[in-house]
Amino acid sequence: MTGDAGAAGEARDGRPFGLRDHWCGELRLADEGAPVRLCGWVARVRAHGSHLRFVDLRDRSGIVQCVVDTDADLRSEYVVAISGTVGARPEGTSNPNLATGDVEVRDCAVEVLSEAEPPPFQLDERAEVDEATRLRYRYLDLRRDRMVANLRLRASVMSALRRSMERQGFTEVETPLLWTPTPEGAREFAVPSRLHHGSFYVLPQSPQIAKQLLMVGGMDRYYQMAKCLRDEDLRADRQFEFTQLDVEMSFATQQDVMAVVSDAVLAAAAVASDREVPPVATLTWQESMERYGTDKPDVRFGMELADLTGAVAASGVAALSAPCVKAIRVPGEAGTTRSRLDSLTARARQLGAKGLAWFRVVPAKADSEDAGAALGSRPLGSRLSLDSPLARHMAPTVIDDIVTATGAQAGDLLLAVAGPTATARAVMGQLRLELGRPPLSEGAPRYVWITDFPLFDEGPDGTAVPAHHPFTMPHPDDVVLLDSDPLSVRSQAYDLVLNGWELGSGSIRIHRRELQQRIFAALKLSAEEAQARFGFLLDAFRYGAPPHGGFAVGVDRLVAILAGEENIREVIAFPKTQSGADPMTGAPKELAPGALRELGILVGRAGPAAGRSPAGPGGSAP
Ligand code: ASP
Repeated sequence: MTGDAGAAGEARDGRPFGLRDHWCGELRLADEGAPVRLCGWVARVRAHGSHLRFVDLRDRSGIVQCVVDTDADLRSEYVVAISGTVGARPEGTSNPNLATGDVEVRDCAVEVLSEAEPPPFQLDERAEVDEATRLRYRYLDLRRDRMVANLRLRASVMSALRRSMERQGFTEVETPLLWTPTPEGAREFAVPSRLHHGSFYVLPQSPQIAKQLLMVGGMDRYYQMAKCLRDEDLRADRQFEFTQLDVEMSFATQQDVMAVVSDAVLAAAAVASDREVPPVATLTWQESMERYGTDKPDVRFGMELADLTGAVAASGVAALSAPCVKAIRVPGEAGTTRSRLDSLTARARQLGAKGLAWFRVVPAKADSEDAGAALGSRPLGSRLSLDSPLARHMAPTVIDDIVTATGAQAGDLLLAVAGPTATARAVMGQLRLELGRPPLSEGAPRYVWITDFPLFDEGPDGTAVPAHHPFTMPHPDDVVLLDSDPLSVRSQAYDLVLNGWELGSGSIRIHRRELQQRIFAALKLSAEEAQARFGFLLDAFRYGAPPHGGFAVGVDRLVAILAGEENIREVIAFPKTQSGADPMTGAPKELAPGALRELGILVGRAGPAAGRSPAGPGGSAP
């Protein structure tokens, strides 16, 4: 934060008004001789001779050293106003690690505006503090450079997204926070109605239906910085409440939606850093699964999955006989120890594989065929061999094919999993990440569109469940398969992925009642059920719905990645802990009996205690 204060910083921080006339972090040699009045927090006090003290004064813009001659009691985190004169630091005492390191403020008069108890943890960036303490005292944690920088980046990113949407002709429309429950709607936060006891609103999981209704309403191009709420288990990339850039547009193709969203997210990356960000790439779902084993590929590094199914088909190695064999090449890791290979094998088993095949790629010794065979390796022409118990009985041509398919070089390690296609892909895709993924902060952000998702996934009992949501338009070529072979129907749904994180998803929507009803039927939703759940949308479609499509970008995830943070809590001012609690406010808490009565709520004794339940008040309506 302090590093680049200066001309750009001045513009960013605005005019320092009110009780002060300068920002701490912006003073430079050019200000030498200037009288200044600063306000902020005492970051550090050091004695300097008998009377003098050095006070590091901190505000939002950074830190400056003040030389203070006063008897006043000055302690860490006291809030003070300091008036003095800017001077160059004496020869040899500059601090190159501080943006203001060439200057100090001298002849200071100090006024204490507010005293402070000793903070429960050091606000110094170097101090490691456990998360519960940070969140319990979030207002202190927010004073740290990292949080100031992250929240300011968040504001810049949101502003860039908004400017892009407005430039592209979109209108921001707010949709209700009090929405209607869907029968069996799991994971919704319920809000009891005071005026209609026993009835509930829910907080929206997304403005999906509302934005489609806006299209029926002729709004044409809508966006919103929408707060969405889902009562799901929390993870590093998931909170109960999150913000998304929600978009919907009429008379638009999938390419149009993708172009609009690409513009917005590239604009966001541009405000986050000076690094050149490559244009958004596109992969079909099939390609992504084939090459990366996942629909959330991190394309910042190679180690793509190689298909060995054909190469090993005739190898006669039982362990490799399977419908699908996928491999990765780990460059330069041929020397991996046996115990490490054993733990990788255990990891592959944990991920669902039967085992893990490994091969060390070694230079072939053309004149020592026997020695090679004795070691379990086979010479390959004049170049490469595979050193592995499994390669011992492989024909040289099979080894040759494996080397070619993986692009192996001498000194590499090859890892392979054989099994059902989904397992082989998923396990190798995960091992690729675990062995090769660079930290989020490394390299330029790499956005990828994933297109042509299947319309349905196979549910646990073999039935079709929507892969995206039930309003997604099938691929026009596949509509004929809806009844006969639903699981092979492609959709007009697309995801946006950034550095291996799913940033959001969207689709072209169904805008005709008949087709929507056919999809509900394929999902085994009866006409009555469909009417009960989504009747108001189906009704709207009677009155002229334009073709439309949209998207939602997860803003918390976007900011976290652009900030190089692995957890979205680092870019949210007041997040919940993993167990859904807020250690600062104590939420969720029990409601007073009077409030419960007014809401018509009886809390059952067997239900989870509201104070401890991350899901909020338990119980049922009378
Ligand atoms: N409503 C979807 C979601 O929140 C996004 C979309 O299809 O526009 O994931």
